[in-house]
Order: sequence, then C-alpha cells, then structure tokens
Amino acid sequence: MPVKSFLLDQNTIAGIGNIYACEILHRAFMSPWRKAGSLSLKEWQRVAAAGLCILRKATACRGTSVSDWLDLHGKKGEYQNHLTVYGRAGCACPHCGEKVQRMVLSGRGTYFCPSCQK
Ligand SMILES: [Zn+2]
Repeated sequence: MPVKSFLLDQNTIAGIGNIYACEILHRAFMSPWRKAGSLSLKEWQRVAAAGLCILRKATACRGTSVSDWLDLHGKKGEYQNHLTVYGRAGCACPHCGEKVQRMVLSGRGTYFCPSCQK
C-alpha cells in the first residue's frame, strides 16, 4: 500500500489524519505514493522523525482548524498557519518553490511537492 495510506490506517498507527499525513510526508521528502513496504529503515526513521516534529508542533498549536476543529475550550487551533502543503495547491513549496499539487490517493485529497517528494 502507498505510504500515505499506511500512515492513515488506524489499525497500524492511531491518530494520524489526512492533514498530518500530507505534512509529515512533505517534511520527510517522501512521495505519498511510495509503497510502504519499499521504504528502508533509514527512510522510516525519516518519516518517524518528521511525524514527531509535526505532531509536537501541531499539539503545541492546539490542532489545525481548517474546517470545524475546536479544542476542548472551544477555541480554534493555530497549526493551519504553519501548513506547508495541505490546502496549498498552486502555492510555492517553502523548500524549493515548485508549485504544490493536489491529487486523490485512496479517496483522499493529497497535497505534495512533486520536486521535493520522491
Ligand atoms: Zn518542494
């Protein structure tokens, strides 16, 4: 299965949603379409490190309010202000300047940089 679908599979890893899967794979310079079984240990370590970084920052920002997310106190999160690819189709990738693209993978909108993410 594609690595993005693997990250979204709640039977494998609980709690990673579509927004964070896109952001994690962008930070890890990993194509969402790479087959999960083809990643080396070093590549998985890169994905895990990116996940830790993204989720720590998103938690510190109290989540990502791109639609109706509110925290326990009814406030919007602020991580939407730090997104690098999700919801940014046509915008410049902050790493390389290439336009971020959106495609559908396993029925989910998938945002990625075709230049950075191989
Ligand atoms: Zn890029």
